[in-house]
Amino acid sequence: MATFDIPTEQWAQVVEKTGGPSVYKKIPVQKPGPDEVLINVKYSGVCHTDLHAMMGDWPLDTKMPFVGGHEGAGVVVAKGELVKDIELGDHAGIKWLNGSCLACSFCMQADEPLCPHALLSGYTVDGSFQEYAIAKAAHVAHIPKGVELDAVAPVLCAGITVYKGLKESGARPGQWVAIVGAGGGLGSMALQYARAMGLNTIAIDGGEEKAASCKNLGASAYVDFMTTKDLVAEVKAATPEGLGPHAVILLAVQEKPFQQATEYVRSRGTVICIGLPAKAYLKAPVFDTVVRMITIKGSYVGNRQDTQEALDFFARGVVNVPFKTVGLSELGSVFDMMKDGKIVGRYVVDTSK
Ligand code: NAD
Ligand code: ZN
Ligand code: ZN
Repeated sequence: MATFDIPTEQWAQVVEKTGGPSVYKKIPVQKPGPDEVLINVKYSGVCHTDLHAMMGDWPLDTKMPFVGGHEGAGVVVAKGELVKDIELGDHAGIKWLNGSCLACSFCMQADEPLCPHALLSGYTVDGSFQEYAIAKAAHVAHIPKGVELDAVAPVLCAGITVYKGLKESGARPGQWVAIVGAGGGLGSMALQYARAMGLNTIAIDGGEEKAASCKNLGASAYVDFMTTKDLVAEVKAATPEGLGPHAVILLAVQEKPFQQATEYVRSRGTVICIGLPAKAYLKAPVFDTVVRMITIKGSYVGNRQDTQEALDFFARGVVNVPFKTVGLSELGSVFDMMKDGKIVGRYVVDTSK
C-alpha cells in the first residue's frame, strides 16, 4: 500500500465572515476520523453555490469560518480504521454531500441528499478549497484511474446534479429539453449529458460567447434572454410543431426564468428547478398548470449511484466540458467573474498554486 508524507500545515481559502472575501492563508491539516478519508485535493471546480455560501444567500447557516469547495478531485492519502472499500493512493472526489447518517428513512432509500443529518462540503464542513480535505468514506466519489483530475472535478457537483435533474425530468431520447443558464457551469454539463442521453436541447443564456459555446456543446437552438423580444415564443418556436419542450431544466441564478418556464413548457411537460437564486420564489398560473397538466419539481444533487453513473459517462468520453484552470490563490477573481455572469463553462482551481 502506498504511503504519503502529510504536512501539518497547508494552503487554503477561508471565508471568515458572511459576504467574504475568501482569504488565502495557511491552516492546519486535519486528521480523518474512523469512518473518514483524507484526500489530497489536486483540483477543485468552482460552483456558484460556493459564491452563494460566501454571500450568505440562503436560509441555511454555514459553519464560520469555513473552507468552501465541493468539486474536489484528488488522491486518498490517509484513512480511518473502519474504512475498508478505498485504499491509499486511490483517486477520489469530494462532493457537496460530504456525509449522511446512512440510517434514516431517506438514507435507507438512497435519498441521502435529503438526510436531516447531512454534512455539506464547503458549507457545514470544510470543503475542497484546500490542499487536504476530509470526507466520509461512504460518500466519496470513486474516480477511475486514467481520468484527468482537473477535467473531472466539475462532474463532482455540476455533472452529478444535471444528470440527476435530467433523469428526474423523465424526458426520453428524441424529446426536447430547454436548459436555462446553459452557458454556465451546470448548463454546459447539462447540454453534454442531455446529448449523451439522446435528448435535443434548447439553450437559454445571455451573450454571443455563451451562444457559441452552447452550439459547440450540441444545443439545437440558442435563445438570448438579454436580447430576445419574446423569450416564450422563441423557445416554443424552436420545438417541433411549436408545442414547447418536454422538460425545462432551470439552472439560472435569477428569479425571472423560474416564473417564465411554465409558459413555454409543453403540456404534460416537467419543469425541474435546480438553480438557487437568493430569496427567489416560484410562480405559475394555476389555470395553465391544471389544464395543461404541468409538473414542477425540485432536484438536489444526486445519490451515490447517480454519482458513479455521472462519472461513468465522463470516463467513457461522452461528456466533455470547457474549463479553465487558475491557482487556488486566485479564487477571488473567479468569484468576481461569476458575480458578473462572465464565466463560460467552469473554472477549476489548482491547489498547488
Ligand atoms: P454559473 O454562474 O456558472 O451559471 C449560471 C448561468 O445562468 C450563467 O451562465 C448566467 O448567465 C445564466 N443566467 C443568469 N440569468 C439568466 C436568465 N434570466 N436566463 C437564462 N440564464 C441566465 O452557476 P452554476 O455553477 O452553473 O450554478 C447555477 C445554480 O445552480 C446556482 O444557483 C447553484 O447554487 C445551483 N446549484 C444547485 C444544485 C442543486 O443540487 N440543486 C447543485 C449545484 C448548483
Ligand atoms: Zn455545486
Ligand atoms: Zn440519513
